[in-house]
Amino acid sequence: MELRGIDVHTHLATPEAIGETAEMGAYFKTALTGIPIEETVELYRSLGLMAVVFGIDKTSRGQAYPGNDYVAHLAGQFPETLIGFASVDPWAGTRAVDEARRAVVDLGLRGVKFMPIGQAFYPDDRRFYPLWEEISHLRVPTIFHVGHTGSGAGTPGGGGLLLEYARPIPHLDRVAADFPDLTIVAAHPGWPWHDELLSLMLHKPNVWMDLSGWSPKYLPPTVVQYANSLLQDRVLFGTDYPLISPERWLRDFEAVDFKESVRTKILLDNARRLLAIDPP
Ligand SMILES: [Zn+2]
Repeated sequence: MELRGIDVHTHLATPEAIGETAEMGAYFKTALTGIPIEETVELYRSLGLMAVVFGIDKTSRGQAYPGNDYVAHLAGQFPETLIGFASVDPWAGTRAVDEARRAVVDLGLRGVKFMPIGQAFYPDDRRFYPLWEEISHLRVPTIFHVGHTGSGAGTPGGGGLLLEYARPIPHLDRVAADFPDLTIVAAHPGWPWHDELLSLMLHKPNVWMDLSGWSPKYLPPTVVQYANSLLQDRVLFGTDYPLISPERWLRDFEAVDFKESVRTKILLDNARRLLAIDPP
């Protein structure tokens, strides 16, 4: 089947790795148990889609991470469908820098995902600059969660998690300024700071956005407006699978007022450029 789109934001959902993703299930009103990788691959394949897949390394917070080797193994089994991204725990210091390099150079992972809320760090903290420097040299994109999260939502004190870590300005703004060669995909439209994110994208061409985590029906009007115009080359299709299914996302995307020429860019062309995936 012809490639129709690339979902740049899916979480590990296999029975071995469902833990951290399942904790967000209550917020998204889906009970999550593990989904065998074959089932996920078959779903994406049947829809003509590829998927970027990642977990989040929070080992310094005492949480299990299945490992970049595991992600590389899954992606290696289904290279026509899965694009593996690494995760490293920024608090691991030089070990994080070395692991990012190993994950990209030796394991062939194609980008690095960060979750500042869950990993409890400010991206513009100078202590993490060696990591951004390294990833910038590796020439692979990063995905940084921005804005609200389902993680911890509705639990006492939000599970102790701080939303502020994921505020685009100043935290990502400063990283984008200091590392102009680092490609930063701000994951989700960034609500309640989506307008800050739009400003950041207009100002810094190394910042992109994925539309994951929300049904497109609920995208703020300014996000749709800029995605349809000035920012149409840096907005990406993403679901947050398994929390939102690609069928639902695509169905709801149809119902939103995007220009036809922009739809193809969001679904496929922009991600091709981001990930250097050539047309056949
Ligand atoms: Zn996500």
